Amino acid sequence: MSRPYNFSAGPAMLPEPVLRRAQEEMLDWHGSGMCVAEMSHRSKQFMSIAEQAESDLRMLLGVPDDYRVLFLQGGASSQFAMVPMNLLAASKGSSAMADYLNTGSWSKKAIAEARKFCDVKVAATAEDGRFIRAPTQAELNLSANAAYLHYTPNETIEGVEFSYVPEATVPLVADMSSTLLSRPIDVSRFGLIYAGAQKNIGPAGLTIVIVRDDLIGQPRNGTPAMFDYKIHADNDSMYNTPPTYAWYLAGLVFQWLKDLGGLAVMAEINQRKADKLYAAIDASDFYTNPVEVASRSWMNVPFTLADAALDEDFLGGAKSAGLLTLKGHRSVGGMRASIYNAMPEAGIDALIAYMAEFERTHG
Ligand SMILES: *Cc1c(COP(=O)(O)O)cnc(C)c1O
Repeated sequence: MSRPYNFSAGPAMLPEPVLRRAQEEMLDWHGSGMCVAEMSHRSKQFMSIAEQAESDLRMLLGVPDDYRVLFLQGGASSQFAMVPMNLLAASKGSSAMADYLNTGSWSKKAIAEARKFCDVKVAATAEDGRFIRAPTQAELNLSANAAYLHYTPNETIEGVEFSYVPEATVPLVADMSSTLLSRPIDVSRFGLIYAGAQKNIGPAGLTIVIVRDDLIGQPRNGTPAMFDYKIHADNDSMYNTPPTYAWYLAGLVFQWLKDLGGLAVMAEINQRKADKLYAAIDASDFYTNPVEVASRSWMNVPFTLADAALDEDFLGGAKSAGLLTLKGHRSVGGMRASIYNAMPEAGIDALIAYMAEFERTHG
């Protein structure tokens, strides 16, 4: 059976070997007689799964020892609130102000949430009409007294990506929901990284937070336990029942990445996939990607057809060709191909071939 290629922005494709392994282990994980979803999170079996996943993730990303890795719930959207609830007081002088870069729909949501807790200074905005580029370092108007600087390295909806990590004198906070594990990063450049798993890591329901030790432990007054990073860190992400099955599946994804050769190898494949697709779009007068070349995303490729009246035909034909979920986000329109780690290169080739054929017959 050959599976279709699913270009969904999230929940997104998982690597087929991971799904097969989960299938093999579904009824009896390693002789336990149980499915992982049936195990106590405090059992020796699940603890070994959890520890292996954390150590593999640390290895893949080269996470330094003074960072905690948390396996939480609530999605990236909960982090929009948890970040200000925990990090405002952590900075010298208890600053009630944070810098945010406004580069797209997810930045805007993060900013709106942070405004409930503090003054937000928008240190750069790309919102003049549409979001089609990331600001350069020189364009960032940073405040020396901000508690932290928050940005979104990849705007999943607009397909806008930073090609650099901003320099800042305050802790850098990054919403990496759609880029974490797509390439190597230098974790030590960041104070805190968070990501919902369902784009590039595993199934929905798991949220990964990587945070430097010294930034946690000073939550604002009245912070509920479930929103306090320190409580999760002190309890190895088992203060309450964690999303055990999602944690297990993410662990299988980490093992798949290790087997592939790690994040440098993954990055090469991802860059090749993105380059191919953008080259096909740029070579055609029929398809357009609106994003400035230097800010184009490796992970989410929005594109429009010359005639929007053909959108439904395009999507219908794509579906018949085994190319699913190409419809663009409702706020942007057109198409969007999300091509995370689990999208095989053959899926890109199939999409490019379909696009060429559609252009030939409809252009
Ligand atoms: C998907 C996404 C979110 C929202 O994630 P949830 O898990 O649904 O809360 C936030 N930021 C970015 C960059 C995303 O891609």
